[in-house]
Amino acid sequence: MNRNQNNLTRRQFLTAASAGAVVAAASQTIPAYADITKNAGKLAALGGQPVRSGKGWPRWPHVDDDVVDSVVKTTKSRIWCRIQSKTGTVPTFEKKYAEMMGAKHFLATGSGTQALHTAVEAMGIGPGDEVITSPYTDPGTIASILAARALPVLADLDRYSYQIDPDDVERRINENTKAIMPVHIMGNPAHMERFMQMARKYNLKIIEDACQAHLAVYQGRLLGTIGDVGCFSFQSSKVISCGEGGGIVGNNDELMDKCYTIHNHGTSRRGRTELPGPKYRMNEFEAAVLLGQLPTARQRHERRNENARYLTSKIKDIPGISPQKLYEGSTEGSWYLYTMSYDKKHFNNVSRSKFIKALSAEGVDLSPYIKNGLHKEPWVDHILNQKVYQKMYSPQRLQQYRDENQCPNCDIVCREEMLMLWASGPLLGTKEDMDDIINAITKVYENRDKLDQV
Ligand SMILES: *Cc1c(COP(=O)(O)O)cnc(C)c1O
Repeated sequence: MNRNQNNLTRRQFLTAASAGAVVAAASQTIPAYADITKNAGKLAALGGQPVRSGKGWPRWPHVDDDVVDSVVKTTKSRIWCRIQSKTGTVPTFEKKYAEMMGAKHFLATGSGTQALHTAVEAMGIGPGDEVITSPYTDPGTIASILAARALPVLADLDRYSYQIDPDDVERRINENTKAIMPVHIMGNPAHMERFMQMARKYNLKIIEDACQAHLAVYQGRLLGTIGDVGCFSFQSSKVISCGEGGGIVGNNDELMDKCYTIHNHGTSRRGRTELPGPKYRMNEFEAAVLLGQLPTARQRHERRNENARYLTSKIKDIPGISPQKLYEGSTEGSWYLYTMSYDKKHFNNVSRSKFIKALSAEGVDLSPYIKNGLHKEPWVDHILNQKVYQKMYSPQRLQQYRDENQCPNCDIVCREEMLMLWASGPLLGTKEDMDDIINAITKVYENRDKLDQV
């Protein structure tokens, strides 16, 4: 990987050197790498030539003959459910995923949400308890806490990493707090160092929501293996996917055994029905797809990382565009999503929606991603009116919960700043594909004085 990085640096240097002289003469503010033949000219949204047209992006989810053969094999085997065989696709996938993670155990489930809920239940978290997590995430994150009738307490974001802010998390810890559920949003690491310190200091559990973060590395460790457990999703859009699927990694024998029992309608590996629990088993077809995809997953992971590094090295110099802030020790991401913050001050004060529209006309589609933080969704009022919450939490606590359910940084990220590229497929593209993204953004920047006409 180091060698790749060096090559990339040399290539970047050559590109910059050849374009540099002309560009520097044209303007101080245009980044030195701009490909001026492509970027010159009118915005496509105003009738000019688009930077990119007639080219598709690599498609997602990944399908190849191994995936298809694996599903056919399972179909013909008539082993369609994990309890039919100890050597079926689900137990085999569990073994391989645990090996890949360097963890003792991996339990497959029917989704990431199911994985998270199983973990919450296995830790004995329920009515009266609180779990601190992010408002800027998939609804499955809080669904796992609500399903246990515990209280999801939402902490505000670090505005430029989009991860929960450790200081705000610490402020929200109280005597009911049982766990922190950091979400590794975009597949890049949350500030795990701080959360692990808090876990020790306040005696809390850590459930990593690594649903977007397959194979990502923080301070030399794979995400999902740092906390007490880590939960993954294999839903279609994720970087390892089978339609709907998920799972839990962990090293604690007793806790992981309890996860199995809970996810198997309370029936343990010993065949006794011991606990209340839903039925969350992964089926053999889902694991068949995953087994077909797994051998080449790392190769795709490395390609995404190479492309992400290249994109970041160029995009960081465009005024008003800041790639996702990464914490120290974030050496590999899953790059499920490639994200940036938009600062309209550098774009003639034109709103994000016009920027996105202009960029789309150039052939590059970015999304504003999550429209509202979860603190702004209607479930909040709903649960506060429910009997179980009114019985299990004091009126003062519920009032305080409502009053403090505010996340201003999350609001500004949602409303004005987030720019997101679905990256599972696109980041598998060529360097030329990445250059199209860079050139399109640069072209829109150069035409910022005309953006209000878009
Ligand atoms: C996808 C996702 C989930 C939920 O996973 P499902 O498999 O869709 O249930 C939870 N958290 C995050 C951060 C996710 O991206």
